[in-house]
Amino acid sequence: MEVKYRSTRSDSAPITASRAILEGLSDDGGLFVPTRIPSLDRSLAEFAAMDYRETAYHVMKLLLSDFTEEELRGCIDRAYDSKFDIPEIARLHETSDAYYLELFHGPTIAFKDMALSILPHLLITAAAKNHEDRTIVILTATSGDTGKAALAGFAGVKGTRIAVFYPKDGVSTIQERQMVTTVGENTRVIGIHGNFDNAQSAVKEIFSDRALRAEMAEKGYRFSSANSINIGRLVPQIVYYIYSYARLLAAGRIKEGQAVNFAVPTGNFGNILAAYYAGRMGLPIHKLICASNSNKVLYDFFRTGTYDKNRDFLLTTSPSMDILISSNLERLLFHADGEDPAACAARMEELSQTGVYTISEKMKENLSLFYGGWADDAKTAARIRAVFEKEGYLLDPHTAVASSVYEEYRKETGDETPVIIDFTASPFKFEKAVMEAIGQPSDLSDLELADRLSEVSGVKVPAAVEALRTARVMHDIVCDQEEMMGQVRDFLGL
Ligand SMILES: *Cc1c(COP(=O)(O)O)cnc(C)c1O
Repeated sequence: MEVKYRSTRSDSAPITASRAILEGLSDDGGLFVPTRIPSLDRSLAEFAAMDYRETAYHVMKLLLSDFTEEELRGCIDRAYDSKFDIPEIARLHETSDAYYLELFHGPTIAFKDMALSILPHLLITAAAKNHEDRTIVILTATSGDTGKAALAGFAGVKGTRIAVFYPKDGVSTIQERQMVTTVGENTRVIGIHGNFDNAQSAVKEIFSDRALRAEMAEKGYRFSSANSINIGRLVPQIVYYIYSYARLLAAGRIKEGQAVNFAVPTGNFGNILAAYYAGRMGLPIHKLICASNSNKVLYDFFRTGTYDKNRDFLLTTSPSMDILISSNLERLLFHADGEDPAACAARMEELSQTGVYTISEKMKENLSLFYGGWADDAKTAARIRAVFEKEGYLLDPHTAVASSVYEEYRKETGDETPVIIDFTASPFKFEKAVMEAIGQPSDLSDLELADRLSEVSGVKVPAAVEALRTARVMHDIVCDQEEMMGQVRDFLGL
């Protein structure tokens, strides 16, 4: 039975998966959600015998049901290949108290590659299926990792152009260098004076500017989105939850049907939402541990039921989680509230007007699968150090936030359920913070730091960082939030 997609904010007619990927965001400002959440049609034991690509096919086919087998397998084969530096694509590392799911083996060494290496292929396929022959313009706001992963995915892809906006002073040096050295005529990278939320709001505004859309249509352009609001990002992320569970099963670490916990370092709520969908599809999950850094809106929300973004935006050592408006939470709340679009629209209107909304006690009960926690920079650094000293295993700051929150969760609850912690970025991407955490000198140049980090940890400098030694800066535009529209027009020659 076909799965279609509907908006969280109105009762407009459901559309196919390929259309939803192409549109990115619904016209009414809502996010697309599946009209029905399908169940896995293979047993977990069967998944235990599959490799990553096969798993991806059997999970994604359920949610992208208007793609043919040939189309979907084609996208999967082009995405999950030797761009990844291990043939398994993702792998588990066992320590004395947790399993770490390494999701950073892709071309830009962050977990964003898991979805953004396939999104361009899904989009191009979706365009062809829907007889869309206009050039697809991807507009993306990034807190650091999405930008480069999207650029890597779309650079040079025929029929697409991509503009990325990042907070000039809100990303790590390596993240910035990765983005501004991007080659590809169809790419543009722009720093903004402001934070990620500023960039994301402006992108959403530009995206829904009707006059601009009309002008673009005339010139043969249409917008789409590579942000985690696109279901083409969300669906591929469900795969590794099932894959990692199946690996534990294959290794005899758990029994079929036994529940596990996942701890997820969270920003825009995309990654952990994929885990929630995996659970709804039949993966046995006991708790989803939602870990925040000092921008702890989500922690406060899960504790009190009130979402309040009216607070200072803090810059932390885990910049990809420096977010106060977690877009994908809208989807979870839609499902937790009987799938009522009017209530969802009202909540989001309140958020945009006042910066605050509160959910009912009943809804709060419906969210009991989630446990919220947070760790500040000091705790994060302490955790990097502790795991390194005890296990000889080096975490990046984002992963350390999740690891620290998990440790606290376990102490507080005594829950000994096996846990899989999402390892979301290579420590080489955040080398300064990591070196400081383990008591090493950090006032070196980026590339010297990479060499030192490699010596200390015994891990080879990743190719993505090696490439920066000789890469030239190709993009040097920095602008104010108000000038972003002008930049987009300039990029498209409007
Ligand atoms: C994007 C990102 C996150 C947060 O993921 P969300 O899906 O936005 O919640 C965590 N860690 C790293 C390294 C990231 O790049």
